[in-house]
Amino acid sequence: MMGTRCWLEIDLSILRKNWTMIHHLLQPGCTPVGVVKHNGYGLGAIPIARELERLGCPLLSTAGLTEALELRQAGIRAPILLLGPIDPACTSAAMEHNVIVPVVDLEHGRLMDEEARRAGGRLRTHIKVDAGLNRLGVPVLGREEEALAEIEAILALPGLTNEGLTTHISGMMDPAYDYLSLRQLELFRQLTRRLAQRGFSLKAHCESSLPLLAHPEYQMDYVRLTSALLGLQPGYEALGVRCAVQLKTSLLQIKQVPKGSSIGYRMTYTAPRDMTIGIAGIGYGDGLSRSLTTGAKMSVRGREADVLGKLSMSFAVIDLTDIPEAALGDTVTVFGYGEGVPSVQDYAALYGGHACEVTSLLKERIPKVYSQRS
Ligand SMILES: *Cc1c(COP(=O)(O)O)cnc(C)c1O
Repeated sequence: MMGTRCWLEIDLSILRKNWTMIHHLLQPGCTPVGVVKHNGYGLGAIPIARELERLGCPLLSTAGLTEALELRQAGIRAPILLLGPIDPACTSAAMEHNVIVPVVDLEHGRLMDEEARRAGGRLRTHIKVDAGLNRLGVPVLGREEEALAEIEAILALPGLTNEGLTTHISGMMDPAYDYLSLRQLELFRQLTRRLAQRGFSLKAHCESSLPLLAHPEYQMDYVRLTSALLGLQPGYEALGVRCAVQLKTSLLQIKQVPKGSSIGYRMTYTAPRDMTIGIAGIGYGDGLSRSLTTGAKMSVRGREADVLGKLSMSFAVIDLTDIPEAALGDTVTVFGYGEGVPSVQDYAALYGGHACEVTSLLKERIPKVYSQRS
């Protein structure tokens, strides 16, 4: 791409196909919520939200109010459910822009209730409960009766229109802890049943991408998804879900170095033979992990090229000795898909990271190109 050192390519047609594939997991009554927090995991909240809106996604989600208002400014009209609480002083702004806010406890609910009534309206809310993650929400584990009473008190606040009950669980990366996740899911389900018995009809949701895959029986009314939609969650490959993103740069220079040359800062790599090296235009200043050194790979002309020595702030040195056809200006793929291309998971595994973390940490100024290709 002209004038840019590196860029992201996001194929929205893959996002569309992933959306369709994921629907195979969903029961007729379950609706996906398109979570586009943190600039859509670094891939651009606005274009992704627009595409999700086009796909008929009825509800979007961001972490905070500022992000939600940015979507509104861009013309996104779907209701937006926040994942985190707001400052009660922002209640009327949330009401005005059709933003649904989680109530994290009775005190928080009361403050927003006052503000909503002062503004002469009602704030749309979901009550957030904490079933064992020990993050936001009304704690439930070990105090079920108190939690029920607290929820009922929130439901009685006249300035709030409470539509849902939600929790977020610890996840199941490690099968040894699956029983803990199941305990949280089951505790939440019991709570929704008891509230239903008391006559409250609330939309319930507790699953994000990984829990949905592991325990689809707890999908309830909504599932909140990002990584599955973008193809950043490896388990979904079996369903035909694919990664929608590629990070690319180009070859800025190619040169020969004799055996014994030290490549890069701090003399961490010495050429074991005469080599052809290429300088690629991306570094840790673009948001790559600095632990990406010898051992990592990038891709040139469909072939894997080793990263040599330490990554610097703006550049990476790669081994082109066995790719003699490589030419100045060639595209270098840092991660993506296709023959000889490291996946974002390969990249994340180099430093024990997660694909969502990799894309979220990329600098916002990296240009993003959206295509509708495949
Ligand atoms: C980020 C987030 C999600 C989406 O997570 P994925 O695993 O990427 O689908 C869902 N719910 C909450 C509360 C979140 O914070």
